[in-house]
Amino acid sequence: MGTGADTARPVLGLAAGEPVPLVPGRSCAGCTLCCKLLRIPELDKPQGKWCSHCDPKRGCKTYETRPQSCREFFCGYLTSHNLSDIWAPIKSRILLMGVEGGLSAVVDRDRPDAWRVSPYYEQIKAWSRQGMDEGWFVIVRIDRRTIAVLPDRDVDLGEMEQGEGIEVGWYPTDGGMAYEARKVARE
Ligand code: SF4
Ligand code: SF4
Repeated sequence: MGTGADTARPVLGLAAGEPVPLVPGRSCAGCTLCCKLLRIPELDKPQGKWCSHCDPKRGCKTYETRPQSCREFFCGYLTSHNLSDIWAPIKSRILLMGVEGGLSAVVDRDRPDAWRVSPYYEQIKAWSRQGMDEGWFVIVRIDRRTIAVLPDRDVDLGEMEQGEGIEVGWYPTDGGMAYEARKVARE
């Protein structure tokens, strides 16, 4: 199982790269976390650094002319009925999004252990087990650092470069299933 093109399927109601309706009653009000955590290619903005157009307390200062990738992005909290209010990024400091191959939990570099605390870690681990059954996987990203969350352990893959993907596999052992994850060059 890898990050191949056939894996861009909805996970937890999150469709990678496809617009989905917002959950009624949820909005970005008070939150600007994606303006810090995500790479914005049109602005040459890297992951983990505040966008120069963002006022973290008030929002986008260039909202009417923001880039297309900003217009099209809605995080998992806004789009998935499967996520409870604890997953509001402003509280959790974790931004969930569907990606090719599965689910990405993008974590605020200033709270890099936010995903390891309860109840987030237990839920992320449960998604990992569910994903292995259904054919998708879970990664945690802290800027470019990427951690594959497997049912039996977490594999720190280090910093991912453009053009690299992740391959996750499993095999039976005498003690049950074993899992592995590694970086691969995309074709
Ligand atoms: S992280 Fe989600 S809730 Fe927060 S501003 Fe971005 S899209 Fe809105
Ligand atoms: S342009 Fe606006 S919406 Fe886009 S990342 Fe910057 S502050 Fe956020």
